[in-house]
Amino acid sequence: MPIYTADSMYVQGQVQTGWALWVEGDQIAQVLPVDTLTAEQKAQVIHFENGFLIPGLVNSHNHSFQSLLKGFCDDQDFFTWRDQALYKYSKILSRDDIYTGALFAFGEMLKCGITTVCDFFYINDQANENARAVIEAALAVGIRIVMARTLYDWEGAPTRFRETLPQACDHTRQLHAEFKAHPMVHVLPAPHSLHGASTAMILAGAELAEELDTQFHMHIAEGQYERQMIEQQHGKPPVAFLESLGVLNDRLVGIHCVWLDDAEIELMAQRGTGLSYNPSSNMFLGDGITRIREMLAAGVCISLGTDGGCSNNRASIIEEMRMTSLLQKVKFHDSTVTTAEDMFAMGTLNGGKNLGLPIGELAAGYAADFTVLDLNDLSMQPRQNALKNLVYASQPSAIRAVFVAGKKVLEAGQLLTVPEAEIVRRVQLTTASWG
Ligand SMILES: [Zn+2]
Repeated sequence: MPIYTADSMYVQGQVQTGWALWVEGDQIAQVLPVDTLTAEQKAQVIHFENGFLIPGLVNSHNHSFQSLLKGFCDDQDFFTWRDQALYKYSKILSRDDIYTGALFAFGEMLKCGITTVCDFFYINDQANENARAVIEAALAVGIRIVMARTLYDWEGAPTRFRETLPQACDHTRQLHAEFKAHPMVHVLPAPHSLHGASTAMILAGAELAEELDTQFHMHIAEGQYERQMIEQQHGKPPVAFLESLGVLNDRLVGIHCVWLDDAEIELMAQRGTGLSYNPSSNMFLGDGITRIREMLAAGVCISLGTDGGCSNNRASIIEEMRMTSLLQKVKFHDSTVTTAEDMFAMGTLNGGKNLGLPIGELAAGYAADFTVLDLNDLSMQPRQNALKNLVYASQPSAIRAVFVAGKKVLEAGQLLTVPEAEIVRRVQLTTASWG
């Protein structure tokens, strides 16, 4: 039962000194002041000199295979990007390529201090083997994974994405049962979107979440076209339509939610529906600006995601904290509308809430997932306010160590699990013939 201390630690919502993190197995047993430790406990202390110990960062939305597509179709409009990058290459990926893409995405995330990723995965081939390959990659590299197993039936999408309703439900149920007892793997249903899943599929996803007692994730109103399409088809905007279906509840986490009106924001807050926000991706694809200021005021639980590697194209939640804040400040011409403290909650604790897991906080009973930053890194100077520096100034060079489920997976900025050179070799092998 190791006890960790550091020069600074983020405890009880603030940066504090003189605290210790007592880990038992894969959980935090206690967070307590150093001066209350017994002599026997003090003998077990591992101290991070010049370290800033924070809860591990939570990436609440990603598509890992898309990391392989970086640079292949950048600076194009959404539909060109979708057809010429996403659809084109997802048709040719082998299971081994999918594994490589996941190793690549997750390895990069660990190097940015992320300890949990939600992978929204839809190249299912009417089975679960590909999703298992993604899970295996997560376990190999040592990151906690939430597999958002997609339910997808829109006929315009590649065959590999599509399933019948019974197939999608049975496979999701099977995958959930298979990993139910696994401490590092969590499975939840994910009807793709209002354009990728039929109404029947969305209703089934909501019912499955109830049956399996999980959250369920869905892309909502990412592009303006989706809002217009739903209004034309159903006479209501997306969130109001979901409310009319009876699926707007506290299990649902909407991804993006860029194009919402006031009434829809109020509805989300009333129903306890969460938001997984991906500012870099929304900017990269020119989607628009989600109404974060209004959603914060309404009390919507907002977490952050990097989204896929070919619509960002970085893999850092600290980057998303910074982007969220800057984008609101520029939108309102007001630098007071967001704070680093709110951004940090979005990248940690709120991620845990939107994934339904005890992660994102240093507290008893939470997972022993934590990241240590180097207070002596140039990007963390001066030592005026470690949290503001983390959100606005830090670079990945400041990430010194990462622990997931009590196990050290990164030290001195290097992965301890899968050698980085091996990941690079695999990525080059997969993508060398593309273009
Ligand atoms: Zn997405």
